[in-house]
Amino acid sequence: MIRFNCDMCGRSLVPEEDVRYVVKIEVYAACDSMEIDDDFNEELMNDFEEEDDEEMDNIDSDEIDSIEYKTFRYDLCSKCHSKYLQDPLSIKSIRRGRFSEN
Ligand SMILES: [Zn+2]
Repeated sequence: MIRFNCDMCGRSLVPEEDVRYVVKIEVYAACDSMEIDDDFNEELMNDFEEEDDEEMDNIDSDEIDSIEYKTFRYDLCSKCHSKYLQDPLSIKSIRRGRFSEN
């Protein structure tokens, strides 16, 4: 039998008894350069053609993608799930920690 533990509090989740929530996080570089409007894009392409494009060939785009693309998967109990939804990136707790130095 597959057993799951909550990745936040470590509580073991019993199938059929506990509700288990799955959190999937994808992190990757946004390809903003692909969305440049056509005029600007044409200019950019001309620049590339004029220059020696040997440097461009050395960059393996697949390799870059695999480095910059990351996925995370977490199992959460219902308690941690609702806690997580209030502050998915722990932004609030980071701020709280920074400003509550008494
Ligand atoms: Zn939990």
